[in-house]
Amino acid sequence: MTYDLILRGGHVCDPRSGVNHVADIAFEGGKIAEVAGDITGPALQEEDVTGLHVLPGLIDSHVHVSGWMGGAAGHRMLALAGVTTALDMAGPIDSVMQIAATTGTGLTLACIDYVRPGHTVDTTNPLMPELEDVLARARVAGAVGLKILGGHFPLTTEASGRVIDLCAGAGAHVAFHAGTLDTPQNLHGLREACDLAAGHPLHMPHVNAYARGFEAPAILEAHEAAQILAAYPNIWSESYLAPINGNSAKCANGVPESVATRRNLIAGGYDPNLQGMEQAILDGWAHIHLLENGVTRLATGREAVEAWRAAQTDIGMSYFVNPADTSINLALLKRDNGRFAVDALATDGGGLPRNDLCQRGLALVHLNALTLSEFVWKTAAEPARMMGLSQHKGHLAPGADADVTVIDLERRVPCLSYGGGRAILRYGAVVGQGTTMIVAPEGVAAAQALGLATYVAQPGSFQPVHRTTADGI
Ligand SMILES: [Zn+2]
Repeated sequence: MTYDLILRGGHVCDPRSGVNHVADIAFEGGKIAEVAGDITGPALQEEDVTGLHVLPGLIDSHVHVSGWMGGAAGHRMLALAGVTTALDMAGPIDSVMQIAATTGTGLTLACIDYVRPGHTVDTTNPLMPELEDVLARARVAGAVGLKILGGHFPLTTEASGRVIDLCAGAGAHVAFHAGTLDTPQNLHGLREACDLAAGHPLHMPHVNAYARGFEAPAILEAHEAAQILAAYPNIWSESYLAPINGNSAKCANGVPESVATRRNLIAGGYDPNLQGMEQAILDGWAHIHLLENGVTRLATGREAVEAWRAAQTDIGMSYFVNPADTSINLALLKRDNGRFAVDALATDGGGLPRNDLCQRGLALVHLNALTLSEFVWKTAAEPARMMGLSQHKGHLAPGADADVTVIDLERRVPCLSYGGGRAILRYGAVVGQGTTMIVAPEGVAAAQALGLATYVAQPGSFQPVHRTTADGI
């Protein structure tokens, strides 16, 4: 047997398979063929990864790679961060598909499409027939479900509940950035969102966003958020580690469109209008996302104001609003049963410059706060399970997709990555191409029309609920 590739001498860490030792790993036909102490078989290619760690490909369960958020740099930035599979948490789906088709770097990507008044729905209180149309359109266009944008563009409480109800019945993925017209994005919003799920599966994104120290010290709010989530086994959640949030600086009628953008201006002592935004950028409170060398970076001051104006304010931005207390505690906290309080570590990155699974996630491993196995659980095994990919991804057993991220643990950087056996990242250079879109059966045609490879997610395959089987898969 001649293998396609053997990675030799790395430390393989795959908690699902119970592997955590130095071993060779062989790829064949896009799959993992063998993991063993010393693989003798010849290979078309060999790679010496002595001193490096070989992990299941990193899965970022919360990214943005659309023209609305993140932009076209997202695929390149995810590849540079060692990610091999990702979930776009807002769409719009048409833009996500276009960007995937034109700037792909070898990733596997799924997308849920936003429910946004004035864009995909007419009002803040869409009724069931309109929402059914939204979901049907989104699926045909390539999305696997819907995102409620609560904190940014809230719906009524009733409509938010209807979206979850609809997706439960249709077997579609649904995520809820907590917050409604009645309740802001804080622990009250989190509690309300959990109740609105009414026992249905729900993906609760970026738990950090509800525990920024709004009403109590951030560390206490983080613990309270964890306790709230523990009461809802139907809810699956992720948190991030970055100090910055990610948002849009777009203004309409003289004010930022996003409620969150306005709130953060006020938090920095600025008026929530065009003048306040300009001053906040000049002063260095509001950070504009500038594209440079194919990736976005944060910018403030005069150059940032000019870029914001040149884009007619329609440009990404970030604020340093995430307390470390919240981020670190949410990444580490466990429940009484030993499970993590927050299921996964994600980034809310993609085209937003915060793709830090390795940079910050592995810092927790350095501090002995997470074991490397726990890091792999939160960044590969558990997101794979939630996305219905457990059989193929999130582990390195023979027969799994050859999705692998090779890291330099000492330096906290990804060195090599592979998706389906094809190289994505090679020591700082992005070498992958194309995108495999995870789509509902009715989205296959749209993806193929754009030349995208497809992976079909049957209704109900995404399982944003707590695992129940003994081994967790
Ligand atoms: Zn997001």
